[in-house]
Parts: sequence; C-alpha cells; structure tokens
Amino acid sequence: SAVPLGGSVIPLVNKLQDIFAQLGSQSTIELPQVAVVGSQSSGKSSVLEALVGRDFLPRGNDICTRRPLVLQLLQTKTDEEYGEFLHLPGKRFYDFSEIRREIQAQTDKEAGGNKGVSDKQIRLKIFSPHVLDITLVDLPGITKVPVGEQPADIEARIRTMIMSYIKQPSCLILAVTPANSDLANSDALQIAGIADPDGYRTIGIITKLDIMDRGTDARNLLLGKVIPLRLGYVGVVNRSQEDIMFNRSIKDALVAEEKFFRSRPVYNGLADRCGVPQLAKKLNQILVQHIKAILPGLKSRISSALVSVAKEHASYGEITESKAGQGALLLNILSKYSEAFSSMVEGKNEEMSTS
Ligand code: GDP
Ligand code: MG
Repeated sequence: SAVPLGGSVIPLVNKLQDIFAQLGSQSTIELPQVAVVGSQSSGKSSVLEALVGRDFLPRGNDICTRRPLVLQLLQTKTDEEYGEFLHLPGKRFYDFSEIRREIQAQTDKEAGGNKGVSDKQIRLKIFSPHVLDITLVDLPGITKVPVGEQPADIEARIRTMIMSYIKQPSCLILAVTPANSDLANSDALQIAGIADPDGYRTIGIITKLDIMDRGTDARNLLLGKVIPLRLGYVGVVNRSQEDIMFNRSIKDALVAEEKFFRSRPVYNGLADRCGVPQLAKKLNQILVQHIKAILPGLKSRISSALVSVAKEHASYGEITESKAGQGALLLNILSKYSEAFSSMVEGKNEEMSTS
C-alpha cells in the first residue's frame, strides 16, 4: 500500500503487543480510536482510504456513508491482505472492491436504499502487513436538509451519532473541512470543538486544495491563522469524482498530490503540513506520545503481576523460577522499550532497532 499507516512505530508496537499477549488479556496496549468528522462530501472517506492505502470505501458526491463503519486495522506477519466483516465471520475478502460492494449492500439493508441513515455499526477488520493495529471510524457527514427517506430531524440524529464516538476521551478526531468552503462555518471544527474544547485530540484536515477559487490558497488555513488548533492542520488533495470514475489508483493519486504541492510555491516551507503522508506521520507521532504516556502504567501492571505470581508460588510452597523469571525478563524488555520510546519522541533516535 502507498501510505502504510504505521511507519517506524509498527515494529515497536508489535513487540510490545507480543509482550503483553504473554501476560494475559488485560495487559494489552490500547491505541486510541481515530474518527473522521465533517459535513457531507467533505472528503472524510477519501482521507481514510488514502491512509489505509487501499480502495474499499463507498465515496461520492452524495450521501455515501450512511452507517458508522468501524474499521479495525490488524497487522499480519504474512504478505496477505484481506478484509473480514463481523457479520460474515470466516469469509475473507481479498478483492477490495468486493468489500465496498458488501458495505453498500449492508448499508442498504439497514438504512434503506434511499439515503436513510442508521447508527447501527458495520464492523470490518482489515488484515495487512502494512498497517498499525488501530481502529478508524468512518462516520456519516453532517447534513442539514432531509432528503429521500431521511427524517425531519436528520441533522440532530447524525450529530448525536457522531458525538457518541468523539466524546470518548481516547478518540482522536480528524476534523475534515474542504478548502473551497469557509473554515469559520466548518461543521467539523464546530462539532470537534464541543467534544474536545481544548483541542488536545483534534487534527484539522483541509481537503480539496486543488479546487479552490483561482487566486486563493490555503496557506493561512494551514498555518492556523484563521482558526488556531493545538495539533494543527494538514492539507490534502484526494481523488476527484472524475478520478474515481476513471479508476485512478491511490498510488497515482499520491504521486499527483506530491506534484501538486511541489509545483505551487505558496506551499513551499509548509511541507510538514501538506499531503497524506504527512498526515500519517502526524498520526504516528501522536500515537507514540500516547504509548509513551501509558507506558508507566503498563510497567506497574507488570510489576504487580510479578508480585502476585510470586505470592501464589509462595503459598503453594513451590519454587518455580520459570514464570517469575519470564516476568522479570519482560519487565526488563519493557524498560528498554520505554527508554527507546522516550528518545524517539524527543527526536534523538528516529530509527530504532527492534532486536
Ligand atoms: P465524505 O462524504 O466526506 O466521506 O466524502 P467522500 O470521501 O465521499 O468525497 C466526496 C466527493 O469529493 C467525492 O466525489 C470525492 O472524489 C471528492 N473529493 C474528496 N476529496 C477531494 C479532493 O481533495 N479533491 C477533489 N477534487 N475532490 C475530492
Ligand atoms: Mg463518507
């Protein structure tokens, strides 16, 4: 895939997850969930697809996402890439356009064929060697005027649905606003601001930089001069409806995006705020920070697990070195990793050995 969501964090997280798997189910690393919010057709599904690097979501200039899609990315050790739905256990989808058709069929089944919306989730796992174990949530966009089978209170219903995801303190919010609309009227920033008033977990995403009015650009938006945002903004160029009609691949789209930014002097010097790869990088940095923040808690959990193992053995009057020894070893490895994480976060050590 073109922009593997993971980068250098993957091996580290994997190693840690392996360690915790050996310690039993309650000691796992929970990475935050990432949800996209914004108005209808702002480009939310396009951004998620670009991050995963595969084509599989219904997209278009109409209401396409009509049920929450909880997308669990799971890293595999093999080269196989496939999807599996919760409602079809055991059925592996290797063809990603078939995944899209299944999402569409399930949407129609639950939300009707005529633009209806349902808060019943579709749950999809994507297994791939290129992703980080993380959960992405694609949500219906905010709309104002009921169409088709939508009830009169459609806007309130969608807002309630979105809030139920983004109010969770562990949810990262990708607030998507198209560059050809007014940021001050952004539904995305408005709803994200209610869920996360201090902006600790909101990333602003400006889509459609390619179709801004002639003579305008997104420089001030990306610099946070229009509406400041603690975690900042990333501008992206996703595929247009025409690109979708002509089946342009994600890979080609990323090349075109890179060329777009390179050929516009106004975006010079803003490289860290431009493009899907930068967004992936930013997400990774935030995840590393998150892991760093939870490491001390994980360490103490392992320590207390060790103590209880020792006690248990003492009460049976046995001396079983092996289990306690294994625990001590894990604690040791974890200490090593937490130091490595810290230095990575501080930028001293970008590439880490995982041996
Ligand atoms: P969603 O409703 O927010 O999920 O939006 P979609 O991802 O379905 O995109 C809505 C429409 O906008 C589709 O036709 C996309 O092809 C188009 N689109 C999304 N992002 C961009 C972009 O950056 N540039 C252009 N030109 N079109 C885009
Ligand atoms: Mg969508």
